[in-house]
Amino acid sequence: MIDRQDTYLYQGKRKKMLEGLKLKGINDVVLAAMFKVPRHVFYDSALVHFAYDEENAFDIGEGQTISRPSTVAIQTQLLDIKKGDKILEIGTGCGYQTAVLIEMGAKVWSIERQGKLYEKTKVNLPQLGYNAKLFHGDGFKGLPQQAPFDKIIITCGAPFIPKDLLLQLKENGGIMVIPVGEGVTQIMNVITRKTGMEFDKRELGQFKFVPMLKDKK
Ligand code: SAH
Repeated sequence: MIDRQDTYLYQGKRKKMLEGLKLKGINDVVLAAMFKVPRHVFYDSALVHFAYDEENAFDIGEGQTISRPSTVAIQTQLLDIKKGDKILEIGTGCGYQTAVLIEMGAKVWSIERQGKLYEKTKVNLPQLGYNAKLFHGDGFKGLPQQAPFDKIIITCGAPFIPKDLLLQLKENGGIMVIPVGEGVTQIMNVITRKTGMEFDKRELGQFKFVPMLKDKK
């Protein structure tokens, strides 16, 4: 059972984090959702005091990291979430991004490659009141049986844009936000599906993610 209260101290730290994000151009809807999620409860107790720091991506076990606040905020904003949107997330990790999407009114299907992380988050998220459909599997393949999705978010650095995922995006306006690149940094790509196999692609700034790896562990 997670027992880490959302004290005034943490709420204050969270407000400060949001002020920083506002200066970076994050809109009020995303900020409100991020205020509702107590980010520190997703951290191991030894690291809990760093939960609201922008500087680093922190360890969540199994060699993986929770995305820094600005990365979560930017990816969420780029998805342009509407209430009731059906979202596919690749890279559940500790479930923090999942929780923010749920606070935005989205329904989330999320895949995690790492068995141990999947097991941990499957217990933690519902305890925090967040209900998502979680899967242990290979994100490159997505969830063809549950497709199409209004939006798809990839929270690990993809070596290329997986075609299977493009095909699971809804036609006429489905949006995918995916960091692409095999080096230390990746370029954030925003892809919009038009009709059939017609897509629009925009490239945004550089980001740093753990790699998207093949085959589940
Ligand atoms: N959204 C997460 C970020 C976790 S880091 C959070 O808020 O905590 C990225 C995650 O992607 C890691 O947990 C990693 O194990 C996972 N991952 C890497 N390759 C994957 C793949 N092919 N399919 C699904 N998940 C993958």
